[in-house]
Amino acid sequence: MKKWVYEFHEGNADMRPLLGGKGANLAEMTNLGLPIPNGFTVTTEACTDYYKQGKQISQEIQDQIFAALGVLEQQRGKKFGDESDPLLVSVRSGARASMPGMMDTILNLGLNDVSVEGFARKTGNPRFAYDSYRRFIQMFSDVVMEMSKSFFEGILTELKESRGVKYDTELTADDLKELIGRYKAIYKEKMGAEFPQDPKVQLMEAVKAVFRSWDNPRAIVYRRMNDIPGDWGTAVNVQSMVFGNMGDTSGTGVAFTRNPSTGEKGIFGEYLINAQGEDVVAGIRTPQPITRLAEDLPECYAQFMDIANRLEDHYRDMQDMEFTIQEGNLFFLQTRNGKRTAAAAMKIACDLVDEGRITPEEAVLRIEAKSLDQLLHPTFDAYGLKNGEEIGQALPASPGAAAGKIYFTAEEAKAAHEERGEKVILVRLETSPEDIEGMHASEGILTVRGGMTSHAAVVARGMGTCCVSGCGEIQIDEEAKVFTLGGYTFHEGDEISLDGTTGKIYKGMIPTVDASVSGDFGRIMAWADSFRKLRVRTNADTPADTANAVRLGAEGIGLCRTEHMFFEPERIPKIRKMILSDTAEQREAALAELLPFQKGDFKAMYEALEGRPMTVRYLDPPLHEFVPTDPADIEALAKDMGMTPEEVQQKCDELHEFNPMMGHRGCRLAVTYPEIARMQTRAVMEAAIEVKAEKGYDIVPEIMIPLVGDRKELKFVKDIVVEVAEQVKAEKGSDMQYHIGTMIEIPRAALLAGEIAEEAEFFSFGTNDLTQMTFGFSRDDAGKFLTSYYGAKIYESDPFARLDQSGVGQLIELAAKNGRATRPDIKMGICGEHGGDPSSVAFCHKVGLNYVSCSPFRVPIARLAAAQAALEDK
Ligand code: ADP
Ligand code: MG
Ligand code: MG
Repeated sequence: MKKWVYEFHEGNADMRPLLGGKGANLAEMTNLGLPIPNGFTVTTEACTDYYKQGKQISQEIQDQIFAALGVLEQQRGKKFGDESDPLLVSVRSGARASMPGMMDTILNLGLNDVSVEGFARKTGNPRFAYDSYRRFIQMFSDVVMEMSKSFFEGILTELKESRGVKYDTELTADDLKELIGRYKAIYKEKMGAEFPQDPKVQLMEAVKAVFRSWDNPRAIVYRRMNDIPGDWGTAVNVQSMVFGNMGDTSGTGVAFTRNPSTGEKGIFGEYLINAQGEDVVAGIRTPQPITRLAEDLPECYAQFMDIANRLEDHYRDMQDMEFTIQEGNLFFLQTRNGKRTAAAAMKIACDLVDEGRITPEEAVLRIEAKSLDQLLHPTFDAYGLKNGEEIGQALPASPGAAAGKIYFTAEEAKAAHEERGEKVILVRLETSPEDIEGMHASEGILTVRGGMTSHAAVVARGMGTCCVSGCGEIQIDEEAKVFTLGGYTFHEGDEISLDGTTGKIYKGMIPTVDASVSGDFGRIMAWADSFRKLRVRTNADTPADTANAVRLGAEGIGLCRTEHMFFEPERIPKIRKMILSDTAEQREAALAELLPFQKGDFKAMYEALEGRPMTVRYLDPPLHEFVPTDPADIEALAKDMGMTPEEVQQKCDELHEFNPMMGHRGCRLAVTYPEIARMQTRAVMEAAIEVKAEKGYDIVPEIMIPLVGDRKELKFVKDIVVEVAEQVKAEKGSDMQYHIGTMIEIPRAALLAGEIAEEAEFFSFGTNDLTQMTFGFSRDDAGKFLTSYYGAKIYESDPFARLDQSGVGQLIELAAKNGRATRPDIKMGICGEHGGDPSSVAFCHKVGLNYVSCSPFRVPIARLAAAQAALEDK
């Protein structure tokens, strides 16, 4: 027979997967001999079984629950459901990872109309007995039956008003008795049945509610955002009650052993006298700082401090504890490694190393890599945020906080910022490459359409600009420059604030606080760098982004997208001319005009890199992305090319593709128009040779051919590159080395990587394209249906944000293996958005890639994640 239920003394802290975090720590504390009310844990496996049985708790599990309850009765010398002296329990959920959005706790379970009278007599405290029962009815109805809290709160407020009192502690036993009657009446009215009187039914309904809550929509969203697998399940803890609501020598509180915002050492917390459960955090009465307990109940305080210190010593980490005092007796109800801000995490980890309690390796493992975002971006001033009015919520596409005046076009955003020094929020239906400059000028970007990997999201993350995307609630009229959200109408120049870390949108300007990179941060990163095996590069196309990434620790550029260089106003007419040219000669002439720009860009990049390596990717997007749509632009181009606007329009129309993602792009451009690859090679080689001569940097250009699917295709383009590179070298009398490699981003290339490696000196896995081509859906459209897939539990996470290790990952592993078989010293990296996602970085480490490349602001995250992967490997 399988064991589904563990008494607290049967478990320990290492049993978290089976007992959940709360259960494992209750077990550990029990075994440390701390004052923990007795209880037992129903395992996470029982939760999984519940779903397997079609949402039924098997007889075997039920039997084990009631057997454990029997033991609890013996321990406490009370019977569950007894009419004169009932055993009361709490029912508490607890998953492996702490998960907000799961079920709330139910206290005082086991009371009914009869036993509450016995309870009153036995304790000699009717007020307390009725208070416990009314709380139970309210919690059970809300948590198990999903009745709205507001029914009960409304009745309570009404009663307090009619009695002329402010706090529920001021209500008398008779008042509470009346309250119970009214609670039960509303229950019956709404649920169509009496409030359940059988404690066994109450218990099993509560256990089922915990299991159900594992799959509620809030929990599913939380899991997706935090990479928590859906099959983990949650445990349920059933624990005998202790009471903080028995009078003035009772109370309840929460405390941390160090400050969770700053990391400063010293007890930090609050408590409330004569209160139960969540009263402290619910803000019903103003709690006292924990240090006041030293005056109120000195012995309890001394014992509390002693246990708090022991727990921190034992877990060797900052603890977040919950406790209750029943008539002068202290009980601990929970401890866990406390959640903290990134800044606090850094300080605590460094302090613990200095205190000799943990090693630098452990310190590095303790920091949540994703949380570093907080240290690199502005955040809202806490007080300002408290007063901010939230008007909507969408996808947290790029972290940081931003406040500013609304503009609806990139040009106006840019003008407002540059000419009037305004702080600007750009609001668009969706962004496109032409919006780049306006995006640069903005504090934050808000889009109506698009997911986490939409143009706005990807570009904003690259720039480190706050972005909230996919806000479908917005009704926008871009022409009229107006939108409505949350019941308000906003015009150009009105103020809003965005939180790119939570996706929340606020009315008005909330003050922001700039990120500060403290000394502890530097220490942690230095340790991380000494442990990691993966190198960390960045995706950057401008000297400013490059400098930024280098400051954040990038060791080079893994992806320099050359097309972004063509969008600037002076250049775009030239590339348009090139695209619309009829003959190779015309094209070459147009490209000759572009050459100085491209070369200048590469020189600036090589200078910003100060000798660090750079992988330059040749022109990749479908050409139609560059063609004009604005009639004035078409006219200008027509004039420049000696054509009529109609002819230009027709040529543009011819470039239309049914599926541009799979159209005329990538190396296909170089196959059809070799002169593009020629120009780009000349630009790279001349730039590298000149910068080397001027600055003395040891540059070895890395030229990357995108979207290759066949060895011969790569060879065709490579021959062009070699021919021009050698020509430039001869002209300049240079002996510069250079490497030619390819992206692996088409499934066929991954399958044929062994052959492709004959021509490629390096592989860079372009996991954005590789993911879309492997799944067969495009990242820009996936947002439309992925939510349904999450709901149906077909996919658990966005494969464009978190690498799909089981599918796409297999292609990467295969390509890596076969590539190495052909060319043992082949260099391999990844340059998709995944390069900055911790779990994907761990995968890259596992497969043995040489480097990851990610947007500048994710570089520290990748460095830390790479170190953690290396340490976990040991
Ligand atoms: P959460 O996971 O939301 O913190 P908990 O299960 O820890 O929920 O319960 C919330 C609070 O309820 C606890 O902090 C404690 O004050 C109270 N509580 C839970 N179980 C008991 C119990 N057996 N006796 C007294 N209070 C309890
Ligand atoms: Mg708790
Ligand atoms: Mg690609």
